[in-house]
Amino acid sequence: MNKVEKKRQREQHVVEEMIQLYCRKNHSKEERQGRKMCPVCQELSDYAKLRSQKCPFMEQKTFCANCKVHCYKPEKREQICQVMRFSGPRMILYHPFFAVWHLICSKKEKRNL
Ligand SMILES: [Zn+2]
Repeated sequence: MNKVEKKRQREQHVVEEMIQLYCRKNHSKEERQGRKMCPVCQELSDYAKLRSQKCPFMEQKTFCANCKVHCYKPEKREQICQVMRFSGPRMILYHPFFAVWHLICSKKEKRNL
């Protein structure tokens, strides 16, 4: 496996973890129906994976969120930013690197205000 592929897999894995954490704390057991995450979060996770798979800039960038090309649909970006805001501070401990996304999401918000 080459370097870019590894990076891609790592990104996908961490995003999934963050969505799972978010779902565990914000959505009910009933919504998850015994699965890792509820259908809404699962869809977001699949979407994030797909974007990452199709990303042509994987080599240069550190993470999807600091990419110049915003390939996320506005509604999905809103969703993923929500997940990042929630899971980001909790993930810093485990994945310091991924605090970046969280930072970018909060910056963007301030600009919009
Ligand atoms: Zn959920």
